Amino acid sequence: MAHVVVPKNRLNELLEGWMKNYRVVAPHRNGKALVFEEVKKASDVILNDEITYKSPKEYLFPQVEKIMTFGDGVEPESTEVRKTIVLGVKTCDLEALKVMTAVFTKGKYTDTYFEKNLNNTVLIGLGCRAEKPGCFCNARGLNKAHSQACDMFLTDSGDEYMAEILTCKGEELLEGLQLEEAPSPAAIPQDDNQAGVLEIDGEENVIFNKTDWASISEKCLGCGTCTFICPTCHCFEFKDTVLEGVPVRYRCWDSCMYPKFTIHASGHNPRASKKERYRQRIMHKYLYVKQNFGYTACTGCGRCIRSCPAGMNIKSVVTEIMENLKNS
Ligand code: SF4
Ligand code: SF4
Repeated sequence: MAHVVVPKNRLNELLEGWMKNYRVVAPHRNGKALVFEEVKKASDVILNDEITYKSPKEYLFPQVEKIMTFGDGVEPESTEVRKTIVLGVKTCDLEALKVMTAVFTKGKYTDTYFEKNLNNTVLIGLGCRAEKPGCFCNARGLNKAHSQACDMFLTDSGDEYMAEILTCKGEELLEGLQLEEAPSPAAIPQDDNQAGVLEIDGEENVIFNKTDWASISEKCLGCGTCTFICPTCHCFEFKDTVLEGVPVRYRCWDSCMYPKFTIHASGHNPRASKKERYRQRIMHKYLYVKQNFGYTACTGCGRCIRSCPAGMNIKSVVTEIMENLKNS
């Protein structure tokens, strides 16, 4: 695929052109936080080496989404979606979207809501220079500087971006712009990871039964922040309500850390205590998603570590599980 040079002093011109035809979502300063938001002016876009407070997952999997209206019959909600560019997505969040895409579209059933959003989204990635406090993408085996899990990938090289065009959707964005072609780089920038990739590698039953989950989860408050902020968490529930006299069904993000997440209609709760709920969070991310889709559902973005009010650290937990396995 082609590489072109995008001079930084032409970025605003590009953005203003894109905004005529697309909703543009990009990192934007909201108070102190850098967040993905729809931007209306090119000058509102901030492309730097910070990691956004939240990932852009909500633009593909909204936190609250109307899916159905009950009238004379059941009307599936019209899934007309706006063509959207999500700009400045770091490599860890691109990896997370691979996990989300697998879960929503590669299983037994396809989630048509997610799929439509994905089909109408152009992803523009951006390389990271340095790991931030709490990040452990390198330990998870990711290359923070480069990814091809997007439509176009930008590498900052001072006064310009090197744009790697990876799909037709990416190519379309640069049509007619007379940008200078660049030779393909001789080598893709790599992260040096000599310690090996942090995974949970062992018998599922042994990890499930022999890990001291009560002690590992002792500090957890069950607030659910880690799940809401995680770029790969994808659990949801349904809520029926009446809106202006019309019954409607929404789906809303849910959290496996909440006590009622798995409660049955009978009242029985198979995950009645936080040690079971925390066990589920770790086993799901590091074993079950991998068994089902081939990905570990943790990118090492560190958001849960930075945001947990109790100071829980998933990297330390996984490391401890692996050490205990080796010593048992
Ligand atoms: S953010 Fe921390 S305290 Fe809250 S549920 Fe997650 S691990 Fe527990
Ligand atoms: S579990 Fe934590 S570190 Fe891993 S992807 Fe989710 S928020 Fe990031």
